[in-house]
Amino acid sequence: MTARIIDGKAFAADVRARVATRVASLREEQGITPGLAVVLVGEDPASQVYVRAKGKQTVEVGMESFEHRLPADTDEATLLALIGRLNADPRVHGILVQLPLPGHLDSDLVINAIDPAKDVDGFHISNVGLLGTGQKAMVPCTPLGCLMLLRDLHGSLSGMNAVVIGRSNIVGKPMAQLLLGDSATVTVAHSRTRDLPEVVRRADIVVAAVGRPEMVRGEWIRPGATVIDVGINRIDRGGKTVLVGDVHYDSAAAVAGAITPVPGGVGPMTIACLLANTLTACCRANGLPEPEGLTA
Ligand code: NDP
Repeated sequence: MTARIIDGKAFAADVRARVATRVASLREEQGITPGLAVVLVGEDPASQVYVRAKGKQTVEVGMESFEHRLPADTDEATLLALIGRLNADPRVHGILVQLPLPGHLDSDLVINAIDPAKDVDGFHISNVGLLGTGQKAMVPCTPLGCLMLLRDLHGSLSGMNAVVIGRSNIVGKPMAQLLLGDSATVTVAHSRTRDLPEVVRRADIVVAAVGRPEMVRGEWIRPGATVIDVGINRIDRGGKTVLVGDVHYDSAAAVAGAITPVPGGVGPMTIACLLANTLTACCRANGLPEPEGLTA
């Protein structure tokens, strides 16, 4: 068997197009332009790349982008004051503080200072609680993207066995909540899980969010299963730096029913879902219907 390749790049382009269509109608019919504020503290090179990409795609879908770049030695009070201003600014519907923050800043404190209704990353404690109790939340972008791909592929996930490898607050835990919300039977595996290959072998759906290059092998995968590879790892291969996932692609693709490649799978979905979340936040703030197919 050779797996169907899940084209996250094309799917993300479609999500952005759907966002852009709704943004245009919001502007024409309501005179509202959704706005996303991104806050970057310091000069972490990877964060700079992400923030630039977010700003560019925000503008491309017709939204307003507000970028706030602060020096690495910014103190907590200054950052909290900026978040307070963004919370109060009616042009701003989404606020994202790029992580990681420099070590002297308390990320939990900073994230929890964001108005939960504008927390488009879905990391605020209120949104985590709302998601965990099955209420309307802002949902973290990467797992939301994975959910969209899975729903597109399977329609209903009800009763399917899903194994999520990884229990981070950013990916693993919210992914598990979303799959439960769609009535999958969910197992969350982590570094202390006994006999991981055997656990993975039970899964109809495997979501790998581990941060270990090519750890999940084809022999672990149940024939026909769907494999969602969240991992982004840079490794040296024959003197060249290449990007690989947490799944050993070639061996897994030989047994899986469908698989996301790295790059071009989950990666492009993350920013697309950030734009979708900003649109959703804007619609909720204005008492308008939420965009269809772009929420959990
Ligand atoms: P974290 O490092 O926060 O979490 C990794 C998880 O994997 C932990 O729960 C850890 O377990 C578990 N783990 C580590 N080693 C093993 C092992 N040998 N067996 C089983 N489980 C293990 O990572 P993130 O969740 O933030 O990210 C995971 C991956 O996804 C990374 O490659 C990251 O780059 C990528 N990523 C991609 C995004 C995208 O846009 N596509 C967005 C965010 C992340 P324990 O809790 O026991 O330590």
